[in-house]
Amino acid sequence: MAALTRRRFGLLAAAGVANLAAPSLVGAQGVPRVVVVGGGAGGATAARYIAMDAGDAIDVTLIEANAIYTTCFFSNLYLGGFRSLASITHGYDTLAADYGINIVNARAEAIDREAKAVRLADGGRVAYDRLVVAPGIDLVYDSVPGYSREAAEIMPHAWEAGPQTRLLKDRFDALEDGQQIVIVPPPNPYRCPPAPYERASVFAHVLKAKGHMASRIIILDPKPKFSKQALFSEGWEKYYPGMVEWYGPDVHGGIKGVDPAAGTVETDFDTFHGALVNVIPAQRAGLIAQDAGLADESGYCPIDPASMRSRMDEAIFVLGDAAIAGDMPKSAFAANSQAKVAAMTVCGDLTRSEVFPASYANTCWSLIETDDSVKVGAQYEPTAEKIASTSHFISQTHESAKVRKANFEESLGWYVGIIADIFGA
Ligand code: FAD
Repeated sequence: MAALTRRRFGLLAAAGVANLAAPSLVGAQGVPRVVVVGGGAGGATAARYIAMDAGDAIDVTLIEANAIYTTCFFSNLYLGGFRSLASITHGYDTLAADYGINIVNARAEAIDREAKAVRLADGGRVAYDRLVVAPGIDLVYDSVPGYSREAAEIMPHAWEAGPQTRLLKDRFDALEDGQQIVIVPPPNPYRCPPAPYERASVFAHVLKAKGHMASRIIILDPKPKFSKQALFSEGWEKYYPGMVEWYGPDVHGGIKGVDPAAGTVETDFDTFHGALVNVIPAQRAGLIAQDAGLADESGYCPIDPASMRSRMDEAIFVLGDAAIAGDMPKSAFAANSQAKVAAMTVCGDLTRSEVFPASYANTCWSLIETDDSVKVGAQYEPTAEKIASTSHFISQTHESAKVRKANFEESLGWYVGIIADIFGA
C-alpha cells in the first residue's frame, strides 16, 4: 500500500470504520496483514517496528481500547509531584500519520484463531496473517477478599494508569497530618516489582515536604522480601525515619481481607486502618489472551524465548506483561525490548527478511527522594527453556549523591527515548 494510501486508511480506521477490514488472508492490495492487539509499551512498539522495517510490504493494524495511553511508568513521579499527568499521557496520531499504521480505537472482544481474525466489541472483524497480542495485565480483584472493581473506587489500585492514578493522587493530596496510608502490594509475579516501594517513597517525600511528620505509611506485604529491598530500606531510614513501616507475612501472618467502607485491612496479626488504602491485587495476562487460550494454568502466556511466538499458536506472538518471559521482569523496558524481537520475527515470517539471534535488555529505575534514584537491570538471551539472564547489575547501598543523581537523570532520558520508540514522537 502506498504511504499516502496507508495514511488515509489509518485515519479512516481511527474514525471508526473498522468493519472495512473484512476477514481474508491478505489485505486489499495483496500484502500480508499484521494485527496488534494492545497499544501499550509492547504492542505499539511492535506495530511501529513492523511498519518501519517492512514499509509497504506488510499492512499493520493496531487495535487499542483507549484513545490515549497514560504510562504506568513514571506514574509514581506524578503521585510525588515530580511530573504532570499530561506529561505521561500520549496518543497514536504519529503512528497513523508517519508510519501508516491503521489505528482502530476499539476493544478487541475475541480472537478467532481458526479463522485468523479478531472480533471487535462493535462486531467488526479484522483478519490477520500474524497477530501480536500485548494486552498487559488483568487485575484479579478477588485475590484480596473484600476487594472488587467497585472497591477500587474507594481503595484505588492505580496499577492501570489513567483515572485510577488521578483518583489515588486526589485522595492522597487530601490527607491531613497524622492520617495513615496503608499499601497492600501484590504477590509475584506482577508488573514492575519495585513500583509499590517507589510509591511508598514518593508518598513519604510529599508528606515530609508538607511537614506531615505524624503521618505513617504502612506496607502490608504478602511477600517475605521485595525488589531492591536493601536500597529502599536504607533510603527510608535516611530520608523518612519512622515514617515507612514494612511488614512481611512472618509479622502480619497473612492478609485476610479488606473492608472498603471501614477503610481497614485485616491480617492475622491485627486490623490496620488507613485514611487511604492502596490495594494492588494479584495479576494475570490481559483477559483477551486468556479467553483465546494463549495462557497456561499460571495465568500468563508461554512463548518461544527466541522469538516471543506463542507456544499455543504459531501465527500469534505474545509480548510484555502478558507473556511468561523467564528471568525478565514485567516492565515497559522489557515489553519494548521483546517487541523488537517479535517484530523482526514477524517480518521474517512474512517478507523473508533476515532474522538475527534474539537478545533482550531491561533496566528499572526507582526514585527514593529528589535526585536519588536506584536502578536494577540485566541482559538476557534465549535458551531452550526460557529467556535467561546473562549479566545483571544493581545499585549499591552507601552510593554517592552524584551517582544517585546521575541515575535519576538517566531515567529522565530513558523516558524520553522509550516514548519516542513506542509512539514515534
Ligand atoms: P500495557 O502497557 O498495559 O499496554 C496494554 C494495552 O492493551 C493497554 O493500552 C490496553 O488498553 C490495551 N488493551 C488491553 N486489552 C485490550 C483489548 N481487548 N482490546 C484493545 N486493547 C486492549 N516499567 C518500566 O519499564 N519502568 C518503570 O519505571 C515502570 N514503572 C511502573 C510504575 C507503576 C506504578 C506501574 C504500575 C508499572 C510500572 N512499569 C514500569 C511497568 C509497565 O508499565 C508495564 O510493564 C508495561 O506497561 C507493560 O507493557 P504492555 O504492553 O505489556 O502492557
